[in-house]
Amino acid sequence: MSWPCGRPTARRILRDAAAGGLSGHRDQMTRIPEPFRIKMVERIRQTTREDRIAALEEAGHNLFLLRAEDVYIDLLTDSGTGAMSDAQWAAMMTGDEAYAGSRSFYRLEAAVQRLFGYRHVVPTHQGRGAEQILFPVLIARARARSGNPAARPVFLSNHHFDTTAAHVELAGGRAVDVLTPAAYDTGRPFDWKGNFDLDRLAAEIDAAGPENVAGVIITITCNSAGGQPVAMDNIRAAAALARAHGIPVVIDSARFAENAWFIKRRDPAWRDAALTEIVAAIYAEGDVLTMSAKKDPMVNMGGLCAVRDDADLFAGVQALCVPMEGFITYGGMSGRDMDALAVGLDEAVDEAFLDYRIAQVAHLGQRLIEGGVPIQAPTGGHAVFVDAARMLPHIPAARFPAQALANALYVEGGVRGVEIGSLLLGRDPETGQQKPSKLELLRLTIPRRVYTNDHMDYVADALIRVKDRAHDLNGLGFVHEPRVLRHFTARLAPDSAGPLRRSA
Ligand SMILES: *Cc1c(COP(=O)(O)O)cnc(C)c1O
Repeated sequence: MSWPCGRPTARRILRDAAAGGLSGHRDQMTRIPEPFRIKMVERIRQTTREDRIAALEEAGHNLFLLRAEDVYIDLLTDSGTGAMSDAQWAAMMTGDEAYAGSRSFYRLEAAVQRLFGYRHVVPTHQGRGAEQILFPVLIARARARSGNPAARPVFLSNHHFDTTAAHVELAGGRAVDVLTPAAYDTGRPFDWKGNFDLDRLAAEIDAAGPENVAGVIITITCNSAGGQPVAMDNIRAAAALARAHGIPVVIDSARFAENAWFIKRRDPAWRDAALTEIVAAIYAEGDVLTMSAKKDPMVNMGGLCAVRDDADLFAGVQALCVPMEGFITYGGMSGRDMDALAVGLDEAVDEAFLDYRIAQVAHLGQRLIEGGVPIQAPTGGHAVFVDAARMLPHIPAARFPAQALANALYVEGGVRGVEIGSLLLGRDPETGQQKPSKLELLRLTIPRRVYTNDHMDYVADALIRVKDRAHDLNGLGFVHEPRVLRHFTARLAPDSAGPLRRSA
């Protein structure tokens, strides 16, 4: 296969690295070998280019509609796709499936209390389960505070995850993001692109009136900004502002361990601290945590809601848990899954694992930068975000450049990434107009303990080959556009006979 515009020149590599590179970044790491060996394997299948073009057309150019077995390396998400350890599998055999008061629950509760210092714990089926039983309680409290039962209280967050914003709205609230503007400049390195814009946080509290703010949600790491960490100082300042106004602080905790690792590596004040001390210091700032346990704690399904010491708030959460998730000592989980999660919480803060984990993400990012692919720099905790707007400037946002890139990478190497841009964002429900997206990103999300560094090199090589013919790629338009959450089931077609079809 040869590409029309050839390999990048050394000068271009240097220029791009200077513009967006990690060069000289403090936690730049050499490639760290896997701190585990493999005692069970799962076969994956490489297909031909022709197979992939056929599969993509069958799927309406929407990678969500592919069969997973037609994917060679699946970087769609790190959610529930991690590999459990031998210790986690062993713990599953000790699961106690009692409907109420099972041993597994008490082991999980003890692990949460030890790590986070929060006394009250309910398991949930996943992160959104925690959201659906917490937010209505916080909204009811805000309405009681403001004396207005019809109010639409606001939640303020560095960035609400999409299900988080959805549950805020379902519960009758409004979700407002106050993320640092540094996050939107993908080429400019900054250590804490998950931070709150503290001035805007203060301004939004004033504008709404503190009694109308149902909660401040600190998302660690900030998934939507590229798995970017929040600094300890920023967490403390945001929490202090909330406390001063009597507003509860919720910590959205899917990647709490990765965030703690970044604080240790990038904030000299925490250089010598144990990760567990950093986690304890973060959670001392919060009142409640919600967690998708499918991320850092490496279970395939599960979540948590825990409350530090507010017994009243917890009673409200438990009251919703029973009808929505399940009885209070299992929520949405079986006993064996609670045992695997109890072990996974401790494995999540294993520093040798995190050194390797985040180095693997950085390694893929570094390979891409060297190959002239623009990415969100520096890389975050769980994914590399490729800046499709910079890579495909000839495709307007309304023709979904990141989706075009995702399709081309699939055809090139059987690698599945996911579009995080205009296609995901959708239309304004009132005007029907496409909402303007600040970023057009292709997310390459790395499952935990699943793929080796050789797999990462393979992904980088494929994407660099796509970059070398980026100007040949075409945008996409809808063949079928669902009204809600369209990106999951939309069917698309390339704008005109482009290179995908030419090689068919
Ligand atoms: C994944 C995620 C959620 C939702 O969790 P699910 O387990 O998918 O329901 C919430 N917040 C953040 C930051 C997440 O990454």
